[in-house]
Amino acid sequence: MYNTVMQFSPEILAILFISSIDFLLGIVIFLQNPRNPINSAYGFFAATVTAWGLGVGFFLATTNDGWGDFLARFLYFAGGSIPASFLYFSRILSAQQRFVSWQTFFIFFPTFCFFVLYFFTDLVIAGYTVTLAGAKAFTYGPFHLLFDAHLWVYFIFAFIALQKHYRMHEDAERYRTLFIILGTYLVLFVAGITNVIIPLLSIFSFIWIGPTATIVWVGIIAYAVLKHQLFNIRIIAAELFVISLWLLSLVRTFFSESVRDVWINMVTLMATVILGVFLARAVIKEVKTRREIERLAEDLRKANARLKELDQRKSEFVSLASHQLRNPLTAIKGYASMILDGSFGVVSHKIKDAVEKIFESSERLVMIIEDFLTVSRIEQGRLDYNFTHINFKSLVETIIADMRSTIEKKGLTLSFEYEKEKEYYLIADSGKVVQIIGNLIENALKYTPRGLISIHLSKNTSARTVTFSIKDTGIGMSHETKKKIFSKFTRAHNAHEVNVGGTGLGLFIARQLVEAHKGRIWAESDGEGKGSTFYFELPAEE
Ligand code: ADP
Repeated sequence: MYNTVMQFSPEILAILFISSIDFLLGIVIFLQNPRNPINSAYGFFAATVTAWGLGVGFFLATTNDGWGDFLARFLYFAGGSIPASFLYFSRILSAQQRFVSWQTFFIFFPTFCFFVLYFFTDLVIAGYTVTLAGAKAFTYGPFHLLFDAHLWVYFIFAFIALQKHYRMHEDAERYRTLFIILGTYLVLFVAGITNVIIPLLSIFSFIWIGPTATIVWVGIIAYAVLKHQLFNIRIIAAELFVISLWLLSLVRTFFSESVRDVWINMVTLMATVILGVFLARAVIKEVKTRREIERLAEDLRKANARLKELDQRKSEFVSLASHQLRNPLTAIKGYASMILDGSFGVVSHKIKDAVEKIFESSERLVMIIEDFLTVSRIEQGRLDYNFTHINFKSLVETIIADMRSTIEKKGLTLSFEYEKEKEYYLIADSGKVVQIIGNLIENALKYTPRGLISIHLSKNTSARTVTFSIKDTGIGMSHETKKKIFSKFTRAHNAHEVNVGGTGLGLFIARQLVEAHKGRIWAESDGEGKGSTFYFELPAEE
């Protein structure tokens, strides 16, 4: 039936195909976010481009004079509204908001005037004639050049709006605008030549190029609009795919050649509708989930940054508070020791006992404060190391000599063994090594009510390591405890029974110090009440 009034050449089919893609892009982007002015302005722009494409396509295809005359006027009207809709889109993009003011009125008023001129007068377009070669040639009216001129004025204004927007922005927004400008004026250049300038020379065989080139224009702007809503691109792609499938099946149904064909095509159409809905839904769901995950990750990142900041502040606070506590404590310790020395005269045994307790307690407090300060320095990354060549065996001997009397006072036996023929040299910070060993001996002392403490030094020549171990016959520990005690503030339940004081920081610090020396530290025990052995191993130096 169509063939009697329409003749579709490959060029015309190309125009119609491109126009339907323009239309699909417009619809999908508009539906994507109808309340966003940019999306709706884009939808409107795509609609005018589609109308023009369809106008040109059907005008070229028609063989009916009445239709030809109507379509010639229609395509002028549709083509004339493209610059207006593009200017509107550009202004919305640069203003980032909807404006329904007098500006909109001025943008569309000339289009309306031309509408009257196209359809009700012959002043712009008077119809068309068919040349001898069979091509269609427009018959122009006296105002035709006015029409051409008004198109360029619109594009110049749109260019001004876009380049202003381009200059006002940085980064992504700037590129997006540049993209739109380049896409638009490239296509305009092509369409301007094929659809405006060449027709002035009465050559009409290229006017199919303009509507086909619009795909570049509409496509580039679609991409630029979506670039801001990048996440939606997958949804758009899925929707475009689904809608094209539907249209294709629909067109096939219309063009069915037999009843059997109708049935087959209808079933295909229904299947594509159902499958398409599922597909689009699945994609939308996935995109939503991904967006949610992104949001959660962002929240987590923020929370993490906040926690780090809080942790930093806490370390600063602990460090400040500890410094402030140190001075009064030095005074307490100093005066207590002067009383014990007899600097203030002879004191009774009772008072001496009490002052001794004050002295010991303040000494413990000094050690606790030192631990706090060390921990806060470790956490702030402010703990400095002074690595030198040290004789590990002599260092251990000195520490033992210092502590022996305290250990023996508690009724414990202390032994120290090492392999005599070996040398025990290290590159280490001797102050820190003293701190580690002091801590392990203190612990052995605290958690061993009776029995012995044996210290052992060994060297593994092939692995080039030196190992210090300290074994006691104390309260021991369970398998679970062994894994936890090197963490901050961790104490086993049996530790509270023997020794109420203690911060649970000593082994944490020891581990940090050992690891800073590229060594490792660990504990072994056969269980609670069965004693424990602590080891630490450091790289040996020849
Ligand atoms: P503190 O001794 O102040 O509690 P530490 O970090 O030095 O802190 O030790 C952590 C915990 O490890 C102790 O509370 C105790 O439960 C356990 N522990 C340490 N040394 C021994 C040991 N020699 N024998 C048994 N348990 C120990």
